[in-house]
Amino acid sequence: MPPTTPPFDTTPIVVFGPSGAGKGTLLQKLFAEFPDRFGYSISHTTRAPRPGETHGKEYNFTSMEKFQEMVGQGAFVEWARYGSNCYGTSVKAVEEVEGRGRCCVLEIEMEGVKQVANHPTFPRPRFVFISPPSPEVLEKRLRSRGTDKEEEVLKRLEQGKKEMEFAKSGGVNPKVVVNDDLERAYKELKEWVVGKES
Ligand code: ADP
Ligand code: 5GP
Repeated sequence: MPPTTPPFDTTPIVVFGPSGAGKGTLLQKLFAEFPDRFGYSISHTTRAPRPGETHGKEYNFTSMEKFQEMVGQGAFVEWARYGSNCYGTSVKAVEEVEGRGRCCVLEIEMEGVKQVANHPTFPRPRFVFISPPSPEVLEKRLRSRGTDKEEEVLKRLEQGKKEMEFAKSGGVNPKVVVNDDLERAYKELKEWVVGKES
């Protein structure tokens, strides 16, 4: 069994991939299996909460005005526009996780990934790209999740293509996990994340 208490590798982990690929699903499994080892960096977003999402848990939901104010104050490690909304990782969110001695996990989109990779002070993280098995499956998952309006689904699919190209471009050279069968993909992710110690 990999250790669930320190010392363990606390190098931050950046998870990215097209919307609907299964990032949230895989991370939930990882956090459930290792409840004391990882800490989710709770981002700020201007998007409205989905049913079941709670302020301060999945996201800090905020107004565009407040978000822009935080940008001006240099409060973000990285931030980006995605669809019609803004998303950002605050310095405070990362510090909160680090302060608890946990491995900080960021789940962010491509522009944020680039900023983190080129950040002057943020520690060099480990990058993992969650890929759908095919564009068709991605579209099916995104639609069956049922959380986004048609216009938003189309934007996400378009953005997803760019994320796939970026992952292949070699910019951050991520570990790639194809989320075909959930249990198989989870095993691969888990082994990459904690494998050296298992
Ligand atoms: P993301 O966080 O990348 O946007 P989600 O984790 O929300 O994606 O997953 C999108 C949808 O696909 C959800 O309805 C989820 O239950 C489903 N899903 C995730 N992984 C799989 C899988 N391996 N097989 C089938 N459905 C999956
Ligand atoms: P969703 O609206 O589906 O929760 O997220 C949309 C996209 O925004 C996803 O690709 C997600 O990874 C990304 N995202 C979430 N939080 C952040 C963040 O803090 N910064 C950036 N750059 N992207 C984020």
